[in-house]
Amino acid sequence: MKKLNKTRRLFFKLFGITIFSYLLIPYKFLYSATKKIINKNLTEEQKKILFNEGTERPFTSSLLNEKREGYYHCANCDAKLFSSKTKFDSGTGWPSFTEALPGAFKTKIDYSFGMKRTEYHCSKCGAHHGHVFEDGPSETGKRFCNNGLCLIFKPSN
Ligand SMILES: [Zn+2]
Repeated sequence: MKKLNKTRRLFFKLFGITIFSYLLIPYKFLYSATKKIINKNLTEEQKKILFNEGTERPFTSSLLNEKREGYYHCANCDAKLFSSKTKFDSGTGWPSFTEALPGAFKTKIDYSFGMKRTEYHCSKCGAHHGHVFEDGPSETGKRFCNNGLCLIFKPSN
């Protein structure tokens, strides 16, 4: 009799978990809908940064030495994010900007690695791009530290 109760309890427990996970499906769906792979040609490395908040190794981006005039676009959805006019050499090893184009990003506080940092995501596709710090060299005081792999540079001419 006791054993039967135990089995029954286990059954209800599993049943409960199943119901619960079904209830969570719409939320999971909503969450993934805000982050969507639009560019089908993204590499595994790019996906890791854009969708799993990864970070590329410093001093690896070909955009570090990019000095031409133009705009930096989201590698996933092609949204225009930065003007070359706001790019500067921060010495950190990641492409850095003093300002983003209006409405380009949404920010979120990130507590990983025991630090409080402000993470930013593309407003259009939700992909992660980098972190913004308050020690920028211009009057904005901002330093957008962006993964080069998340950006596509399009020169003006
Ligand atoms: Zn995007």
